[in-house]
Amino acid sequence: MTFAHKTFLWFMLAILLLMADVILVYRSFTQFDSQKNLVTHTYEVINTLEEVVSSLKDVQSAQRGYVITGQLDYLTPYSVAVPRIPESLHKLEVLVADNKTQEKNLALLRQEAEKRMQIAADIIAAYEQKGQEAAFALVRSGAGKKEMDQIRGLVAEMISIEQRLLALRQDKVDAAAEVTLSLGSMGVILCVVILGAVFIMIHRLALRRERAEKQAQAALVEIRTVSEQDALISHMTDYLQSCRKVLEAYEVVAKSLPQILPGTSGGIALYNNSRNILETAISWGDAEGARESFTPERCWSLRRGQLHHVHPGGGEPSCAHLPDTAANTLCFPMQAQGDIVGCFYLMSEKPDTINAHIEKAVRRSGEQIALALSNLKLQERLRDQSIRDPLTKLFNRRYLEETMDRELDRARRKELQLGVMVLDIDHFKKYNDTRGHDAGDALLAQFAKLLMDGIRQEDIACRYGGEEFVIIMPGANAEITRDRAQRICDATRRMKITIGSEIFGGVTVSIGVSCYPVHGLRTEDLITIADQALYTAKHSGRDQVRVAEALISEG
Ligand code: GH3
Ligand code: MG
Ligand code: MG
Repeated sequence: MTFAHKTFLWFMLAILLLMADVILVYRSFTQFDSQKNLVTHTYEVINTLEEVVSSLKDVQSAQRGYVITGQLDYLTPYSVAVPRIPESLHKLEVLVADNKTQEKNLALLRQEAEKRMQIAADIIAAYEQKGQEAAFALVRSGAGKKEMDQIRGLVAEMISIEQRLLALRQDKVDAAAEVTLSLGSMGVILCVVILGAVFIMIHRLALRRERAEKQAQAALVEIRTVSEQDALISHMTDYLQSCRKVLEAYEVVAKSLPQILPGTSGGIALYNNSRNILETAISWGDAEGARESFTPERCWSLRRGQLHHVHPGGGEPSCAHLPDTAANTLCFPMQAQGDIVGCFYLMSEKPDTINAHIEKAVRRSGEQIALALSNLKLQERLRDQSIRDPLTKLFNRRYLEETMDRELDRARRKELQLGVMVLDIDHFKKYNDTRGHDAGDALLAQFAKLLMDGIRQEDIACRYGGEEFVIIMPGANAEITRDRAQRICDATRRMKITIGSEIFGGVTVSIGVSCYPVHGLRTEDLITIADQALYTAKHSGRDQVRVAEALISEG
Protein backbone atom coordinates (compact mmCIF):
# COMPACT_ATOMS: atom_id res chain seq x y z
CA MET A 1 0.00 0.00 0.00
CA THR A 2 1.41 3.37 -0.94
CA PHE A 3 1.91 6.13 1.60
CA ALA A 4 -0.83 8.26 0.00
CA HIS A 5 -3.32 5.35 0.35
CA LYS A 6 -2.30 4.78 3.94
CA THR A 7 -2.70 8.42 4.98
CA PHE A 8 -5.99 8.66 3.09
CA LEU A 9 -7.37 5.61 4.92
CA TRP A 10 -6.25 6.90 8.31
CA PHE A 11 -7.73 10.27 7.54
CA MET A 12 -11.06 8.72 6.46
CA LEU A 13 -11.07 6.63 9.64
CA ALA A 14 -10.58 9.78 11.71
CA ILE A 15 -13.45 11.50 9.90
CA LEU A 16 -15.75 8.44 10.28
CA LEU A 17 -14.95 8.23 13.97
CA LEU A 18 -15.62 11.91 14.36
CA MET A 19 -18.95 11.56 12.56
CA ALA A 20 -19.95 8.53 14.66
CA ASP A 21 -18.98 10.43 17.74
CA VAL A 22 -21.04 13.44 16.69
CA ILE A 23 -24.09 11.15 16.13
CA LEU A 24 -23.61 9.44 19.49
CA VAL A 25 -23.14 12.76 21.26
CA TYR A 26 -26.21 14.12 19.53
CA ARG A 27 -28.29 11.13 20.57
CA SER A 28 -27.03 11.27 24.07
CA PHE A 29 -27.69 14.97 24.17
CA THR A 30 -31.30 14.55 23.02
CA GLN A 31 -31.81 11.93 25.74
CA PHE A 32 -30.33 14.33 28.21
CA ASP A 33 -32.61 17.04 26.91
CA SER A 34 -35.74 14.91 27.16
CA GLN A 35 -34.84 13.86 30.69
CA LYS A 36 -34.26 17.48 31.51
CA ASN A 37 -37.74 18.35 30.11
CA LEU A 38 -39.25 15.66 32.29
CA VAL A 39 -37.58 17.17 35.32
CA THR A 40 -38.98 20.58 34.39
CA HIS A 41 -42.36 18.87 33.89
CA THR A 42 -42.22 17.40 37.41
CA TYR A 43 -41.35 20.78 38.88
CA GLU A 44 -44.34 22.24 37.03
CA VAL A 45 -46.66 19.58 38.51
CA ILE A 46 -45.36 20.32 42.01
CA ASN A 47 -45.72 24.08 41.52
CA THR A 48 -49.25 23.76 40.16
CA LEU A 49 -50.23 21.49 43.09
CA GLU A 50 -48.85 24.10 45.46
CA GLU A 51 -50.81 26.75 43.55
CA VAL A 52 -54.03 24.73 44.06
CA VAL A 53 -53.33 24.42 47.79
CA SER A 54 -52.44 28.13 47.99
CA SER A 55 -55.63 29.14 46.13
CA LEU A 56 -57.73 26.94 48.42
CA LYS A 57 -56.02 28.54 51.41
CA ASP A 58 -56.93 31.94 49.95
CA VAL A 59 -60.57 30.79 49.62
CA GLN A 60 -60.55 29.56 53.21
CA SER A 61 -58.96 32.68 54.72
CA ALA A 62 -61.15 35.07 52.61
CA GLN A 63 -64.32 33.22 53.73
CA ARG A 64 -63.17 33.37 57.38
CA GLY A 65 -62.19 37.07 57.24
CA TYR A 66 -65.52 37.97 55.69
CA VAL A 67 -67.73 36.14 58.18
CA ILE A 68 -65.72 37.51 61.13
CA THR A 69 -65.54 41.16 59.97
CA GLY A 70 -68.45 41.40 57.58
CA GLN A 71 -66.32 43.50 55.30
CA LEU A 72 -66.66 42.75 51.61
CA ASP A 73 -62.96 43.58 50.98
CA TYR A 74 -62.10 40.25 52.50
CA LEU A 75 -63.84 38.49 49.64
CA THR A 76 -61.49 39.93 46.95
CA PRO A 77 -58.87 37.07 47.26
CA TYR A 78 -61.83 34.62 47.24
CA SER A 79 -63.11 35.92 43.93
CA VAL A 80 -59.52 35.78 42.48
CA ALA A 81 -58.78 32.25 43.76
CA VAL A 82 -62.11 30.58 42.86
CA PRO A 83 -61.71 30.81 39.04
CA ARG A 84 -57.96 30.03 39.30
CA ILE A 85 -58.50 26.65 41.01
CA PRO A 86 -60.24 24.95 38.01
CA GLU A 87 -57.63 26.48 35.72
CA SER A 88 -54.80 24.98 37.80
CA LEU A 89 -56.63 21.65 38.03
CA HIS A 90 -57.03 21.62 34.27
CA LYS A 91 -53.35 22.37 33.84
CA LEU A 92 -52.57 19.48 36.22
CA GLU A 93 -54.84 17.25 34.20
CA VAL A 94 -52.74 17.88 31.14
CA LEU A 95 -49.48 17.54 33.07
CA VAL A 96 -50.24 14.17 34.74
CA ALA A 97 -51.92 12.65 31.69
CA ASP A 98 -48.94 10.23 31.39
CA ASN A 99 -49.27 8.98 34.98
CA LYS A 100 -52.25 6.81 35.93
CA THR A 101 -51.71 7.07 39.72
CA GLN A 102 -51.45 10.83 39.60
CA GLU A 103 -54.51 10.98 37.33
CA LYS A 104 -56.52 9.11 39.98
CA ASN A 105 -55.10 11.33 42.72
CA LEU A 106 -55.97 14.40 40.65
CA ALA A 107 -59.58 13.23 40.24
CA LEU A 108 -59.80 12.90 44.04
CA LEU A 109 -58.17 16.29 44.50
CA ARG A 110 -60.69 17.83 42.11
CA GLN A 111 -63.59 16.39 44.13
CA GLU A 112 -62.08 17.52 47.42
CA ALA A 113 -61.26 21.00 46.06
CA GLU A 114 -64.79 21.38 44.73
CA LYS A 115 -66.15 20.24 48.06
CA ARG A 116 -63.95 22.75 49.88
CA MET A 117 -65.02 25.54 47.59
CA GLN A 118 -68.67 24.52 48.08
CA ILE A 119 -68.23 24.67 51.89
CA ALA A 120 -66.77 28.18 51.56
CA ALA A 121 -69.62 29.23 49.28
CA ASP A 122 -72.15 27.76 51.76
CA ILE A 123 -70.64 29.65 54.72
CA ILE A 124 -70.62 32.93 52.78
CA ALA A 125 -74.24 32.33 51.72
CA ALA A 126 -75.26 31.48 55.31
CA TYR A 127 -73.63 34.70 56.50
CA GLU A 128 -75.39 36.80 53.97
CA GLN A 129 -78.82 35.17 54.34
CA LYS A 130 -79.01 34.05 57.96
CA GLY A 131 -76.42 36.14 59.68
CA GLN A 132 -73.11 35.66 61.40
CA GLU A 133 -74.24 33.03 63.88
CA ALA A 134 -75.43 30.67 61.14
CA ALA A 135 -72.14 31.10 59.35
CA PHE A 136 -70.14 30.51 62.57
CA ALA A 137 -72.18 27.37 63.18
CA LEU A 138 -71.14 25.98 59.81
CA VAL A 139 -67.48 26.91 60.51
CA ARG A 140 -67.63 25.28 63.94
CA SER A 141 -68.93 22.04 62.33
CA GLY A 142 -65.22 21.55 61.17
CA ALA A 143 -66.24 20.30 57.72
CA GLY A 144 -64.02 22.94 56.05
CA LYS A 145 -60.95 22.07 58.15
CA LYS A 146 -61.47 18.38 57.60
CA GLU A 147 -61.77 18.90 53.90
CA MET A 148 -58.66 21.11 53.85
CA ASP A 149 -56.67 18.49 55.81
CA GLN A 150 -57.65 15.83 53.29
CA ILE A 151 -56.61 18.11 50.44
CA ARG A 152 -53.27 18.79 52.13
CA GLY A 153 -52.70 15.06 52.64
CA LEU A 154 -53.59 14.28 49.03
CA VAL A 155 -51.39 17.08 47.65
CA ALA A 156 -48.51 15.99 49.91
CA GLU A 157 -48.80 12.46 48.52
CA MET A 158 -48.94 13.72 44.95
CA ILE A 159 -45.87 15.92 45.57
CA SER A 160 -44.03 13.00 47.16
CA ILE A 161 -44.80 10.86 44.07
CA GLU A 162 -43.55 13.67 41.87
CA GLN A 163 -40.41 14.07 43.99
CA ARG A 164 -39.64 10.37 43.68
CA LEU A 165 -40.06 10.76 39.93
CA LEU A 166 -37.90 13.85 40.07
CA ALA A 167 -35.07 11.99 41.83
CA LEU A 168 -35.32 9.20 39.27
CA ARG A 169 -35.29 11.64 36.37
CA GLN A 170 -32.47 13.68 37.84
CA ASP A 171 -30.37 10.47 38.00
CA LYS A 172 -31.14 9.83 34.32
CA VAL A 173 -30.22 13.41 33.44
CA ASP A 174 -26.90 13.03 35.28
CA ALA A 175 -26.19 9.70 33.58
CA ALA A 176 -27.06 11.14 30.16
CA ALA A 177 -24.81 14.14 30.80
CA GLU A 178 -21.98 11.85 31.82
CA VAL A 179 -22.41 9.66 28.72
CA THR A 180 -22.51 12.75 26.48
CA LEU A 181 -19.36 14.11 28.07
CA SER A 182 -17.47 10.79 27.90
CA LEU A 183 -18.49 10.12 24.28
CA GLY A 184 -17.59 13.66 23.28
CA SER A 185 -14.19 13.63 24.95
CA MET A 186 -13.42 10.03 23.87
CA GLY A 187 -14.19 10.88 20.26
CA VAL A 188 -12.15 14.04 20.39
CA ILE A 189 -9.19 12.21 21.99
CA LEU A 190 -9.37 9.39 19.44
CA CYS A 191 -9.51 11.89 16.58
CA VAL A 192 -6.60 13.85 18.00
CA VAL A 193 -4.60 10.60 18.32
CA ILE A 194 -5.37 9.51 14.74
CA LEU A 195 -4.76 12.96 13.29
CA GLY A 196 -1.57 13.20 15.37
CA ALA A 197 -0.43 9.84 13.96
CA VAL A 198 -1.27 11.01 10.42
CA PHE A 199 0.60 14.24 11.07
CA ILE A 200 3.66 12.32 12.32
CA MET A 201 3.52 10.08 9.23
CA ILE A 202 3.29 13.09 6.91
CA HIS A 203 6.03 14.90 8.82
CA ARG A 204 8.31 11.87 8.61
CA LEU A 205 7.61 11.56 4.91
CA ALA A 206 8.38 15.26 4.43
CA LEU A 207 11.68 14.84 6.28
CA ARG A 208 12.51 11.75 4.22
CA ARG A 209 11.61 13.60 1.02
CA GLU A 210 13.73 16.59 2.08
CA ARG A 211 16.67 14.25 2.74
CA ALA A 212 16.16 12.52 -0.61
CA GLU A 213 15.98 15.88 -2.37
CA LYS A 214 19.23 16.98 -0.75
CA GLN A 215 20.88 13.70 -1.76
CA ALA A 216 19.57 14.08 -5.32
CA GLN A 217 20.87 17.65 -5.39
CA ALA A 218 24.30 16.52 -4.17
CA ALA A 219 24.31 13.70 -6.74
CA LEU A 220 23.42 16.19 -9.46
CA VAL A 221 26.25 18.51 -8.42
CA GLU A 222 28.56 15.49 -8.35
CA ILE A 223 27.50 14.39 -11.84
CA ARG A 224 27.93 17.95 -13.11
CA THR A 225 31.37 18.26 -11.49
CA VAL A 226 32.47 14.89 -12.83
CA SER A 227 31.24 15.65 -16.34
CA GLU A 228 32.89 19.08 -16.29
CA GLN A 229 36.12 17.47 -15.12
CA ASP A 230 35.80 14.81 -17.82
CA ALA A 231 35.29 17.50 -20.45
CA LEU A 232 38.35 19.43 -19.24
CA ILE A 233 40.49 16.27 -19.18
CA SER A 234 39.35 15.34 -22.70
CA HIS A 235 40.11 18.88 -23.83
CA MET A 236 43.63 18.65 -22.36
CA THR A 237 44.14 15.19 -23.89
CA ASP A 238 43.13 16.54 -27.31
CA TYR A 239 45.74 19.29 -27.08
CA LEU A 240 48.38 16.89 -25.75
CA GLN A 241 47.86 14.65 -28.76
CA SER A 242 48.59 17.60 -31.04
CA CYS A 243 51.81 18.61 -29.24
CA ARG A 244 55.07 18.14 -31.13
CA LYS A 245 57.47 18.95 -28.33
CA VAL A 246 57.70 18.13 -24.64
CA LEU A 247 57.83 21.85 -23.78
CA GLU A 248 54.53 22.43 -25.60
CA ALA A 249 52.99 19.63 -23.60
CA TYR A 250 54.24 21.21 -20.36
CA GLU A 251 52.46 24.44 -21.29
CA VAL A 252 49.18 22.65 -22.07
CA VAL A 253 49.33 20.72 -18.79
CA ALA A 254 50.25 23.81 -16.72
CA LYS A 255 47.22 25.66 -18.09
CA SER A 256 44.76 22.76 -17.80
CA LEU A 257 45.49 21.37 -14.34
CA PRO A 258 44.40 24.42 -12.29
CA GLN A 259 41.01 24.17 -14.05
CA ILE A 260 40.70 20.40 -13.66
CA LEU A 261 41.78 20.51 -10.01
CA PRO A 262 40.37 23.80 -8.65
CA GLY A 263 41.47 24.97 -5.22
CA THR A 264 44.63 22.86 -5.21
CA SER A 265 48.34 23.55 -5.63
CA GLY A 266 50.73 21.01 -6.96
CA GLY A 267 53.15 19.91 -9.60
CA ILE A 268 54.46 17.18 -11.82
CA ALA A 269 57.98 15.95 -11.14
CA LEU A 270 59.64 13.71 -13.73
CA TYR A 271 62.57 11.33 -13.48
CA ASN A 272 65.86 12.63 -14.91
CA ASN A 273 67.74 10.54 -17.48
CA SER A 274 69.73 8.66 -14.86
CA ARG A 275 66.49 8.02 -12.93
CA ASN A 276 68.02 8.89 -9.57
CA ILE A 277 66.25 12.25 -9.12
CA LEU A 278 62.82 13.71 -9.92
CA GLU A 279 62.66 17.27 -11.16
CA THR A 280 59.53 19.40 -11.09
CA ALA A 281 58.65 20.17 -14.70
CA ILE A 282 55.22 21.78 -14.12
CA SER A 283 53.73 23.44 -11.07
CA TRP A 284 50.62 25.51 -10.34
CA GLY A 285 48.99 27.32 -7.44
CA ASP A 286 50.98 28.09 -4.34
CA ALA A 287 53.41 25.18 -4.57
CA GLU A 288 55.91 26.95 -2.36
CA GLY A 289 57.58 24.62 0.08
CA ALA A 290 57.44 21.64 -2.30
CA ARG A 291 60.93 20.53 -3.38
CA GLU A 292 61.91 21.37 -6.96
CA SER A 293 63.92 18.16 -7.18
CA PHE A 294 63.96 15.17 -4.88
CA THR A 295 65.04 11.56 -4.70
CA PRO A 296 62.36 8.90 -5.21
CA GLU A 297 62.80 7.74 -1.58
CA ARG A 298 61.20 10.97 -0.40
CA CYS A 299 57.85 10.09 -1.97
CA TRP A 300 55.66 7.30 -0.56
CA SER A 301 53.72 6.96 -3.80
CA LEU A 302 56.94 6.19 -5.72
CA ARG A 303 58.16 3.82 -3.01
CA ARG A 304 54.89 1.89 -2.91
CA GLY A 305 53.97 2.31 -6.58
CA GLN A 306 50.46 3.49 -5.72
CA LEU A 307 48.45 6.61 -4.96
CA HIS A 308 49.28 8.04 -1.54
CA HIS A 309 46.69 10.32 0.07
CA VAL A 310 47.49 12.02 3.38
CA HIS A 311 44.26 13.04 5.12
CA PRO A 312 44.23 15.61 7.90
CA GLY A 313 44.41 13.70 11.18
CA GLY A 314 44.86 10.41 9.30
CA GLY A 315 47.55 7.85 10.04
CA GLU A 316 49.33 8.03 6.67
CA PRO A 317 53.00 9.18 6.71
CA SER A 318 53.71 12.50 4.98
CA CYS A 319 55.91 12.67 1.89
CA ALA A 320 59.22 14.40 2.62
CA HIS A 321 59.26 16.35 -0.65
CA LEU A 322 56.09 18.25 0.34
CA PRO A 323 55.83 20.99 2.99
CA ASP A 324 54.70 20.09 6.54
CA THR A 325 52.12 22.90 6.44
CA ALA A 326 49.93 21.15 3.84
CA ALA A 327 47.11 19.43 5.75
CA ASN A 328 45.92 17.41 2.83
CA THR A 329 48.33 15.97 0.23
CA LEU A 330 48.13 13.46 -2.56
CA CYS A 331 50.89 11.85 -4.64
CA PHE A 332 50.23 9.70 -7.67
CA PRO A 333 52.93 7.68 -9.44
CA MET A 334 52.57 8.46 -13.15
CA GLN A 335 52.91 5.34 -15.28
CA ALA A 336 53.30 4.95 -19.01
CA GLN A 337 53.97 1.75 -20.90
CA GLY A 338 54.68 -0.05 -17.62
CA ASP A 339 57.26 2.48 -16.40
CA ILE A 340 56.88 5.03 -13.65
CA VAL A 341 57.81 8.30 -15.35
CA GLY A 342 57.21 10.69 -12.47
CA CYS A 343 55.08 11.87 -9.60
CA PHE A 344 51.89 13.93 -9.72
CA TYR A 345 51.58 15.74 -6.38
CA LEU A 346 48.79 17.87 -4.94
CA MET A 347 48.47 19.76 -1.71
CA SER A 348 45.90 21.90 0.04
CA GLU A 349 45.72 23.64 3.38
CA LYS A 350 41.96 23.13 3.46
CA PRO A 351 41.11 19.67 4.82
CA ASP A 352 38.41 18.63 2.34
CA THR A 353 39.64 20.08 -0.97
CA ILE A 354 41.30 16.87 -2.11
CA ASN A 355 38.19 14.70 -2.24
CA ALA A 356 37.21 11.58 -4.15
CA HIS A 357 36.49 13.59 -7.37
CA ILE A 358 39.88 15.25 -7.27
CA GLU A 359 41.51 11.87 -6.63
CA LYS A 360 39.72 10.42 -9.65
CA ALA A 361 40.67 13.40 -11.80
CA VAL A 362 44.32 13.06 -10.73
CA ARG A 363 44.32 9.39 -11.75
CA ARG A 364 42.72 10.09 -15.12
CA SER A 365 44.68 13.20 -16.03
CA GLY A 366 47.93 11.72 -14.61
CA GLU A 367 47.58 8.68 -16.89
CA GLN A 368 46.96 10.87 -19.94
CA ILE A 369 49.84 13.23 -19.14
CA ALA A 370 52.26 10.37 -18.48
CA LEU A 371 51.34 8.72 -21.77
CA ALA A 372 51.61 11.96 -23.74
CA LEU A 373 54.96 12.93 -22.18
CA SER A 374 56.49 9.53 -22.66
CA ASN A 375 55.35 9.46 -26.31
CA LEU A 376 56.74 12.94 -26.93
CA LYS A 377 60.05 12.08 -25.25
CA LEU A 378 60.30 8.95 -27.36
CA GLN A 379 59.56 10.96 -30.49
CA GLU A 380 62.19 13.55 -29.52
CA ARG A 381 64.73 10.82 -28.88
CA LEU A 382 64.04 9.20 -32.25
CA ARG A 383 64.19 12.57 -33.98
CA ASP A 384 67.48 13.36 -32.24
CA GLN A 385 68.86 9.98 -33.20
CA SER A 386 68.04 10.63 -36.83
CA ILE A 387 69.56 14.12 -36.95
CA ARG A 388 72.26 14.05 -34.27
CA ASP A 389 75.52 12.24 -33.88
CA PRO A 390 75.30 10.08 -30.78
CA LEU A 391 78.89 10.62 -29.60
CA THR A 392 79.14 14.40 -29.85
CA LYS A 393 75.40 15.25 -29.81
CA LEU A 394 76.09 17.60 -32.72
CA PHE A 395 73.92 17.52 -35.85
CA ASN A 396 74.91 14.90 -38.43
CA ARG A 397 75.97 15.43 -42.03
CA ARG A 398 72.53 14.72 -43.47
CA TYR A 399 70.92 17.34 -41.26
CA LEU A 400 73.66 19.83 -42.16
CA GLU A 401 73.15 19.40 -45.89
CA GLU A 402 69.36 19.81 -45.58
CA THR A 403 69.67 22.81 -43.29
CA MET A 404 72.40 24.48 -45.29
CA ASP A 405 70.28 24.37 -48.48
CA ARG A 406 67.45 26.01 -46.53
CA GLU A 407 69.75 28.60 -44.93
CA LEU A 408 71.26 29.47 -48.35
CA ASP A 409 67.75 30.04 -49.76
CA ARG A 410 67.00 32.37 -46.88
CA ALA A 411 70.29 34.23 -47.25
CA ARG A 412 69.51 34.67 -50.93
CA ARG A 413 66.02 36.01 -50.21
CA LYS A 414 67.20 38.36 -47.50
CA GLU A 415 70.44 39.20 -49.25
CA LEU A 416 72.53 38.10 -46.32
CA GLN A 417 75.92 36.42 -46.20
CA LEU A 418 76.60 33.01 -44.66
CA GLY A 419 79.86 31.85 -43.19
CA VAL A 420 81.11 28.24 -43.44
CA MET A 421 83.91 26.62 -41.40
CA VAL A 422 85.39 23.20 -42.00
CA LEU A 423 87.39 21.99 -38.99
CA ASP A 424 89.75 19.03 -38.71
CA ILE A 425 91.60 18.04 -35.53
CA ASP A 426 95.31 17.86 -36.15
CA HIS A 427 97.03 14.50 -35.89
CA PHE A 428 93.98 12.94 -34.40
CA LYS A 429 95.15 9.48 -35.42
CA LYS A 430 98.01 9.91 -32.98
CA TYR A 431 95.61 10.20 -30.00
CA ASN A 432 93.85 7.08 -31.05
CA ASP A 433 97.10 5.23 -31.45
CA THR A 434 98.79 6.40 -28.26
CA ARG A 435 95.85 6.75 -25.81
CA GLY A 436 93.32 4.40 -27.27
CA HIS A 437 90.06 4.76 -29.12
CA ASP A 438 88.10 5.73 -25.98
CA ALA A 439 90.46 8.65 -25.37
CA GLY A 440 89.89 9.66 -29.01
CA ASP A 441 86.12 9.53 -28.39
CA ALA A 442 86.44 11.62 -25.25
CA LEU A 443 88.51 14.18 -27.16
CA LEU A 444 85.83 14.34 -29.86
CA ALA A 445 83.05 14.83 -27.31
CA GLN A 446 84.96 17.55 -25.49
CA PHE A 447 85.85 19.30 -28.72
CA ALA A 448 82.15 19.25 -29.72
CA LYS A 449 81.30 20.92 -26.42
CA LEU A 450 83.89 23.59 -27.09
CA LEU A 451 82.29 24.23 -30.47
CA MET A 452 78.83 24.51 -28.95
CA ASP A 453 80.10 26.99 -26.39
CA GLY A 454 81.90 29.03 -29.06
CA ILE A 455 78.98 29.60 -31.43
CA ARG A 456 75.65 31.45 -31.23
CA GLN A 457 72.28 29.79 -30.98
CA GLU A 458 71.37 30.36 -34.62
CA ASP A 459 74.70 28.88 -35.82
CA ILE A 460 74.68 25.20 -36.72
CA ALA A 461 77.56 22.91 -35.73
CA CYS A 462 77.75 19.40 -37.07
CA ARG A 463 80.02 16.40 -37.16
CA TYR A 464 80.81 15.99 -40.80
CA GLY A 465 82.59 12.68 -40.35
CA GLY A 466 85.46 11.23 -38.24
CA GLU A 467 87.30 14.16 -36.64
CA GLU A 468 85.98 16.65 -39.17
CA PHE A 469 83.37 19.23 -38.29
CA VAL A 470 81.44 21.94 -40.16
CA ILE A 471 79.91 25.09 -38.70
CA ILE A 472 77.56 27.34 -40.66
CA MET A 473 76.92 30.86 -39.46
CA PRO A 474 73.85 32.48 -41.11
CA GLY A 475 74.33 36.26 -41.53
CA ALA A 476 78.11 36.16 -40.93
CA ASN A 477 80.58 37.46 -43.51
CA ALA A 478 84.08 35.97 -44.14
CA GLU A 479 85.72 38.25 -41.62
CA ILE A 480 83.36 37.44 -38.77
CA THR A 481 83.58 33.76 -39.61
CA ARG A 482 87.36 33.90 -39.64
CA ASP A 483 87.45 35.69 -36.26
CA ARG A 484 85.15 33.10 -34.75
CA ALA A 485 87.29 30.34 -36.27
CA GLN A 486 90.39 31.89 -34.79
CA ARG A 487 88.79 31.94 -31.36
CA ILE A 488 87.89 28.24 -31.67
CA CYS A 489 91.44 27.52 -32.80
CA ASP A 490 92.85 29.33 -29.76
CA ALA A 491 90.42 27.71 -27.34
CA THR A 492 91.27 24.24 -28.71
CA ARG A 493 94.92 24.82 -28.02
CA ARG A 494 94.10 25.58 -24.39
CA MET A 495 91.66 22.67 -24.04
CA LYS A 496 92.33 20.03 -21.33
CA ILE A 497 90.84 16.57 -21.71
CA THR A 498 90.07 14.49 -18.65
CA ILE A 499 89.91 10.69 -18.94
CA GLY A 500 89.54 9.13 -15.52
CA SER A 501 92.39 10.56 -13.44
CA GLU A 502 94.43 11.48 -16.53
CA ILE A 503 94.43 15.01 -17.92
CA PHE A 504 96.05 15.85 -21.22
CA GLY A 505 96.09 18.81 -23.62
CA GLY A 506 98.01 20.01 -26.64
CA VAL A 507 95.17 19.43 -29.05
CA THR A 508 95.10 21.68 -32.07
CA VAL A 509 92.69 22.19 -34.91
CA SER A 510 93.00 23.51 -38.47
CA ILE A 511 90.08 25.47 -39.92
CA GLY A 512 89.15 26.46 -43.46
CA VAL A 513 86.63 29.27 -44.00
CA SER A 514 84.40 30.12 -46.92
CA CYS A 515 81.51 32.53 -47.27
CA TYR A 516 78.31 32.87 -49.32
CA PRO A 517 78.08 34.47 -51.82
CA VAL A 518 81.81 35.41 -51.98
CA HIS A 519 83.19 31.87 -52.36
CA GLY A 520 80.27 30.04 -53.83
CA LEU A 521 76.49 29.86 -54.11
CA ARG A 522 75.80 26.16 -53.46
CA THR A 523 76.33 23.98 -50.39
CA GLU A 524 78.82 21.60 -52.07
CA ASP A 525 80.82 24.49 -53.49
CA LEU A 526 81.05 26.34 -50.22
CA ILE A 527 82.10 23.21 -48.29
CA THR A 528 84.58 22.14 -50.96
CA ILE A 529 86.18 25.58 -51.03
CA ALA A 530 86.36 25.74 -47.20
CA ASP A 531 87.87 22.24 -47.29
CA GLN A 532 90.49 23.46 -49.71
CA ALA A 533 91.30 26.35 -47.34
CA LEU A 534 91.60 23.72 -44.56
CA TYR A 535 94.00 21.74 -46.72
CA THR A 536 96.06 24.89 -47.09
CA ALA A 537 96.01 25.38 -43.32
CA LYS A 538 97.20 21.78 -42.80
CA HIS A 539 100.02 22.30 -45.20
CA SER A 540 100.94 25.58 -43.68
CA GLY A 541 101.77 23.96 -40.35
CA ARG A 542 98.28 23.18 -38.88
CA ASP A 543 96.77 24.96 -35.79
CA GLN A 544 95.57 27.85 -37.89
CA VAL A 545 92.66 29.38 -39.82
CA ARG A 546 92.62 29.91 -43.55
CA VAL A 547 89.99 31.79 -45.54
CA ALA A 548 89.35 30.56 -49.08
CA GLU A 549 90.37 32.77 -51.89
CA ALA A 550 87.52 34.82 -53.25
CA LEU A 551 86.04 33.59 -56.54
CA ILE A 552 84.10 36.78 -56.96
CA SER A 553 84.95 40.07 -55.36
CA GLU A 554 83.06 41.07 -52.18
CA GLY A 555 80.44 43.84 -52.35
P1 GH3 B 1 95.68 15.44 -39.82
O1 GH3 B 1 96.31 16.41 -38.92
O2 GH3 B 1 96.30 15.42 -41.18
O3 GH3 B 1 94.22 15.62 -39.93
O4 GH3 B 1 95.95 14.06 -39.19
P2 GH3 B 1 94.91 13.07 -38.68
O5 GH3 B 1 95.57 12.00 -37.89
O6 GH3 B 1 93.82 13.75 -37.97
O7 GH3 B 1 94.38 12.52 -40.02
P3 GH3 B 1 93.42 11.40 -40.51
O8 GH3 B 1 92.28 11.98 -41.22
O9 GH3 B 1 94.30 10.48 -41.35
O10 GH3 B 1 92.92 10.56 -39.27
C1 GH3 B 1 91.65 10.62 -38.80
C2 GH3 B 1 91.48 9.53 -37.86
O11 GH3 B 1 90.34 9.72 -37.05
C3 GH3 B 1 91.23 8.19 -38.53
C4 GH3 B 1 90.21 7.46 -37.67
O12 GH3 B 1 90.76 6.32 -37.07
C5 GH3 B 1 89.92 8.47 -36.60
N1 GH3 B 1 88.56 8.51 -36.36
C6 GH3 B 1 87.56 8.79 -37.24
N2 GH3 B 1 86.36 8.74 -36.59
C7 GH3 B 1 86.63 8.44 -35.29
C8 GH3 B 1 85.83 8.25 -34.14
O13 GH3 B 1 84.62 8.34 -34.16
N3 GH3 B 1 86.45 7.96 -32.97
C9 GH3 B 1 87.81 7.86 -32.89
N4 GH3 B 1 88.36 7.59 -31.74
N5 GH3 B 1 88.57 8.00 -33.96
C10 GH3 B 1 88.01 8.30 -35.15
MG1 MG C 1 90.61 14.15 -41.03
MG1 MG D 1 92.67 15.24 -38.56
